[in-house]
Amino acid sequence: LERSFIAVKPDGVERGLVGEIVRRFETRGFKILALQLVQPSEELLREHYQDLASKPFFPKLLAYMRSGPVAAFVIQGKGAVKIGRDMLGATNPQDSAPGTIRADFALDIGKNVCHGSDSVESAEREIALWFPAGVAS
Ligand code: ATP
Repeated sequence: LERSFIAVKPDGVERGLVGEIVRRFETRGFKILALQLVQPSEELLREHYQDLASKPFFPKLLAYMRSGPVAAFVIQGKGAVKIGRDMLGATNPQDSAPGTIRADFALDIGKNVCHGSDSVESAEREIALWFPAGVAS
């Protein structure tokens, strides 16, 4: 069964949105396989965002992601990657469709509340990175 890696970013944790966001995935029908509050190291984040290292916003992104704990979790179920991304909404909350998590809880691309894997391959890579001890299904 397909799995995806979802994270509530530090602004979402700080604002008390973890329960609401996890609930949406549960009620949609996904199984939560693992869930952990993590204070990510710079090393972990450089690995996680390896494709974005040359972007002008990268230093800000690192600082944002290190500003507090991240709620990292794994969802499992049919279409987990695509439906997960659809449920988060467009990266920029200004463009997110109504009813998506980012549209309902964010206004700023620099504080967009959540992350979701963009492919099955990146999901497996990210799950291994954030849950190095492994995830039971
Ligand atoms: P995520 O990986 O968080 O699900 P994404 O895959 O939709 O997001 P990417 O283009 O990979 O989008 O960007 C990763 C993250 O970098 C975004 O979620 C956002 O937090 C941040 N980011 C992207 N573009 C900008 C920008 N122009 N200014 C500030 N932060 C940005």
